[in-house]
Amino acid sequence: MEGRQHASLSRRRAARLLLLLPALAACAGGLLALVRLPPASRPPLAPTPGTGVAASAGRRVAFEPPPPCRGLVRFDGPPRDPVTGRKVVYLTFDDGPSPYLGSILATLERAGVRATFFFVGSRLPDRAGLVRAALAAGHAVGNHSWDHALLVRLGPADQQMEIARSSRAFLEVLGFAPRAFRPPYGSYDAATCEAVRSFGMEIVLWDEDPQDWSLRSGQEALLVRRVEADLFPGAVVDLHESALTARALPELLARLRALGYEVRPLPTGTAALPEG
Ligand SMILES: [Zn+2]
Repeated sequence: MEGRQHASLSRRRAARLLLLLPALAACAGGLLALVRLPPASRPPLAPTPGTGVAASAGRRVAFEPPPPCRGLVRFDGPPRDPVTGRKVVYLTFDDGPSPYLGSILATLERAGVRATFFFVGSRLPDRAGLVRAALAAGHAVGNHSWDHALLVRLGPADQQMEIARSSRAFLEVLGFAPRAFRPPYGSYDAATCEAVRSFGMEIVLWDEDPQDWSLRSGQEALLVRRVEADLFPGAVVDLHESALTARALPELLARLRALGYEVRPLPTGTAALPEG
């Protein structure tokens, strides 16, 4: 069972790496045209562009970022609570605020846990009340660009605008601009990093991708199994605000608790508001 599970994990990993190759090649060679734009209905996979693959602790697969990004890209968080010593996992929800945010917040509250939301700036005004409620409940928030653009397709000025315009939307709704930036599709390049650095922000990716966007209604238990299969202390799990994920969340939280994990928000801070 364990062996079979491992083999299937390896295949999934291999499939992910194959999908990443165009982005990796683009980053290494500056051939951005090689990055294929995924279908709009399907959030693409993955951690991104780097100039190499660095295997590291546990089951994590991390990518060495290009030089302007050194020290700026984070994949995970502290693995254990410094006081209790308990294992920690960081659930992150991308692409909202969405119609499912209220349900996700209610489930998290019932379980008494906090998570991290990477909101798309242009979507903030429509659900400003829920976004404020998320912050008031102690969840962490991050910037997920203005309109979910594939940044590596944009020039430096447009990339800056994607981040800065979103930061201003956060300022209007929440009164501050988040320090954490998660590039849509996990895709970034040197220009992204220069913009992020100039705004005093950091790039926060993930190291566990259960691909919730690829699942159909009825596959909630599969999402829980996928998260469990790749879990390790300190993992940042990439989820999305979707109907399926909202339905799977109660069982996922129960399973994480049974495995001895505490769900925590990522340690994030605020950034200076970009000028201009
Ligand atoms: Zn996204």
